[in-house]
Amino acid sequence: MADTEVETFAFQAEIAQLMSLIINTFYSNKEIFLRELISNASDAIDKIRYQSLTDSSVLDSGRDLEIKIIPNKSDNSLTIIDSGIGMTKADLVNNLGTIARSGTKAFMEALQAGADISMIGQFGVGFYSAYLVADRVVVTSKHNDDEQYVWESSAGGSFTVRPDHGEPIGRGTKIVLYLKEDQTEYIEEKKVKEVIKKHSQFIGYPIKLVLEKEREKEVSDDEAEEEKEEKKEDGEDAEKEKPKVEDDLDDNDEDEKGDKKKKKKIKEKYIDEEELNKTKPIWTRNQDDITQEEYGEFYKSLTNDWRSTWL
Ligand code: ADP
Ligand code: MG
Repeated sequence: MADTEVETFAFQAEIAQLMSLIINTFYSNKEIFLRELISNASDAIDKIRYQSLTDSSVLDSGRDLEIKIIPNKSDNSLTIIDSGIGMTKADLVNNLGTIARSGTKAFMEALQAGADISMIGQFGVGFYSAYLVADRVVVTSKHNDDEQYVWESSAGGSFTVRPDHGEPIGRGTKIVLYLKEDQTEYIEEKKVKEVIKKHSQFIGYPIKLVLEKEREKEVSDDEAEEEKEEKKEDGEDAEKEKPKVEDDLDDNDEDEKGDKKKKKKIKEKYIDEEELNKTKPIWTRNQDDITQEEYGEFYKSLTNDWRSTWL
């Protein structure tokens, strides 16, 4: 990547102010960042789906309408990917930092008056809640009308935008949050599941948690040898998909006595995708089975209101 391709922009003054407020205010209910980013992902998918009603070819760049959450323990990052409408370069510059929004100032005033940070979404600036948990945010986006671009900011008043020559994402937006040292709980499977169940269970598109897992598999000795051979031939790139061969001495001893085929246990890595929001829409369920709490969560999800009811 040539340095000349990187453009630096200053955040609009009030947005910069809001960001430092988000970063510096002591506030413990940080988990709402995930609700905000998932809500943006869902809005973006609504937009492409709406376009597709009159022009189905807009989905040629990808038909699956879904949201993926990918925790990564090796670099303490959490990735949220949607196959929504995406953002052009101009959208990235305008929507994520340079165009003033009335909600920015209104939200800061509301905070002064005792409002809670979790109300951020109602002021139209929910995206910046990412900085509750991340010190660096990288947004890769692909809109049908433009090339793929990357937006990046570690706050501090500025962000960069550059064309992306990396892996194509097809269509939509990928947000990578590099978590603050004390916020790495958000890469834990249990935590992500809990937060999504609490705040995003009524999102209308599948939210899939993507995890690299490991399982033991028993194979015959020759098969294990084959795996070893293949591994040598494939070299480093194939390392991830190919099972690791581990000798199991006890098994071998037994096998040598009996005349059954030699067995070996190997560990193989695989990608597990689990859909997290399988709750059936509330209006399709038996009223007697719905708790007051579920009604409350549903109301909040529908209205983006911080109260659980009007009463
Ligand atoms: P709001 O969602 O209320 O408009 P946000 O601060 O959450 O405010 O997001 C700002 C804008 O950034 C959105 O209106 C949208 O234009 C753009 N945006 C944010 N996330 C995405 C996304 N995942 N896909 C496409 N556009 C997005
Ligand atoms: Mg939003």
